[in-house]
Amino acid sequence: MREREYRLARRAVLGGMLGLGLQATLANNEAMAAERPEGPLLLPRVHTRREWGARPARRRAEVLDRAPDHIVVHHTSTPNVTDYSVDAAYDLSRAIQRFHMRTRGWNDAGQQLTISRGGHIMEGRNRSLTAILSGRHCVGAQALHHNDHTIGIENEGTYMTADVPGRLWESLVHTCAWLCDRYDLNPYQALVGHRDYGRTDCPGDVLYSRLPALREEVAGLLRFPSRKSAPRIDTDDLPADPGEAMPSGTAHPERHDR
Ligand SMILES: [Zn+2]
Repeated sequence: MREREYRLARRAVLGGMLGLGLQATLANNEAMAAERPEGPLLLPRVHTRREWGARPARRRAEVLDRAPDHIVVHHTSTPNVTDYSVDAAYDLSRAIQRFHMRTRGWNDAGQQLTISRGGHIMEGRNRSLTAILSGRHCVGAQALHHNDHTIGIENEGTYMTADVPGRLWESLVHTCAWLCDRYDLNPYQALVGHRDYGRTDCPGDVLYSRLPALREEVAGLLRFPSRKSAPRIDTDDLPADPGEAMPSGTAHPERHDR
C-alpha cells in the first residue's frame, strides 16, 4: 500500500475505532487546547497529573520541537497488585513521582506515561500530555543517554515470570498506537524495551518477549502497511544500568538523568 493510501485507510479505521471503546475523553482537559487542527485520530483516556494529585515539579520539563523516534516499554518492578481500581492507579503515580523526586533527586517523575495493572493510563512528567498532543517531545528521565529522543511508558508490575494483565496489555496497545499515530512512527521500528538500551532486566522477560506481539497489534490498529525489520540497537558501548535491582515496592529503579 502506498503511503497516501495507507494514511487514508488509517484515518478511516481510526475514525471508526473512536466509537468502539476508545474515548475522546479529554474534552474537559486543558491539553485539548494544544490539539492539532485536524483533531485526534486515536485518543485513549489519559488521566492528568491534576487528577492523580501530582506534586509540583521542581522544574518545568523541557519540550523539544520534534517527535521522539522510539517508544520505550518499562515495567515498574513493583508488586503485581490485584487492586485494579483507579484509586490504586493514582496511588501508583504519586508513589513513582515521590520515589523519583525524593530518592532519585530528579525534577519530577521520569516517565512520560504510566499504565496501572488495571489498565488506567496516566500522564507522568509535567508537560507530557500537551507535548504528545502537539506532536512534540517532552524530555523525561527513563532511558539513560536516550532521553532526548525516546518516550517512556512505565507499566505497573514485575514481568520476569508473571504475565501481563489483559487490561494493562489492552491499554498499552492503544497507548502505543496513539503515540505511533501522533508521532508518525513505524511500530515495527519504534517500539523497544528498556533493555534494548542498556543492561537492565526491564521490562521483564515476559513483557519483553511480547514486544513482537505488541508491534503486530499496534500495526494492526493503525493498518500499518507492511512488516518492517525489528529494531537493531547496538548496546555494546552502553554503560551498565546497575540501579535496576531495587527492593520490591520501589518504583522503577534504574538510574536515569534528572
Ligand atoms: Zn525500565
